[in-house]
Amino acid sequence: MLLYINVYSIMRGNRTFTMIKPTAVKKGHIGPILAIINDAGFKIIAMKLLRLSKEQAQQFYAIHKERPFYADLCTFMSSGPIVAAIIEKDDAVNAYRELIGATNPANAKEGTIRKLFATSLQENAVHGSDSDENAVIEGNFFFSDIEKF
Ligand code: ATP
Ligand code: MG
Repeated sequence: MLLYINVYSIMRGNRTFTMIKPTAVKKGHIGPILAIINDAGFKIIAMKLLRLSKEQAQQFYAIHKERPFYADLCTFMSSGPIVAAIIEKDDAVNAYRELIGATNPANAKEGTIRKLFATSLQENAVHGSDSDENAVIEGNFFFSDIEKF
């Protein structure tokens, strides 16, 4: 019997973490953004609507603390409710970053979530993890084991 091992699927994680950012929530874009995520074949593993405190936003974005936009970003991300979610698909981190488009919506491809819903570089509609390792760290920041399905 020939044993077929898909090396690609072993190396790439199948989960990523996302947030729908405050402006997109405020503008009523939760439903349309979730529909795009659903239509792209992602399964929802965990999800909640919550508002980060300033301190929690600073902790989440600690990786950016030396960047000039850090203070503004943390003020923005704690300015209103967000949706946090863990989502699943093959090669999830890359597939999702493709779906959301470039950080700056001016550079985002047609049809991407940021092209459709972002209003500026900072208020760019959604967050997507940049690596399998950070996807796990970020998912665990928001969800305990009994909140993941
Ligand atoms: P995210 O981490 O939110 O998915 P990203 O990985 O595409 O976005 P990062 O470089 O991690 O981009 O930046 C985190 C967030 O900080 C961006 O999504 C954006 O909201 C904000 N940001 C990044 N660069 C700038 C900038 N030059 N000016 C203002 N805000 C910025
Ligand atoms: Mg990032």
